Amino acid sequence: MKILIVDDSSTMRRIIINTLSRIGYTDVVEGENGKSGLERLGQGGVEMIITDWNMPEMDGLEFVKVVRGQNPGIPILMVTTNAAKEDIVEALQAGVNNYVVKPFTPDTLKEKIESLLG
Ligand SMILES: [Mg+2]
Repeated sequence: MKILIVDDSSTMRRIIINTLSRIGYTDVVEGENGKSGLERLGQGGVEMIITDWNMPEMDGLEFVKVVRGQNPGIPILMVTTNAAKEDIVEALQAGVNNYVVKPFTPDTLKEKIESLLG
């Protein structure tokens, strides 16, 4: 399953990629902000998205809204330091399926991904 990871921090992308690989997901593509995430998505084949919120050019919330306008069904997991309840509500209203607050453990990421995939 191809997973798109969108985060402006290359270190964070690396952490997510390493975590995914430990739980069996090795087919990943990366974007550094919402704009490049949309470009990657447009190339096709992506079945799940893991995105940051705070990014330059196009942030994760904007990115999610655009993606949802084009693709209502693709699972989206948001991984962010924004932990306030109103932020979580806003993200869910934008179309995020689930939410992970940084820093996270591999088990947490695994649980969230599995719940997204049903
Ligand atoms: Mg960021």
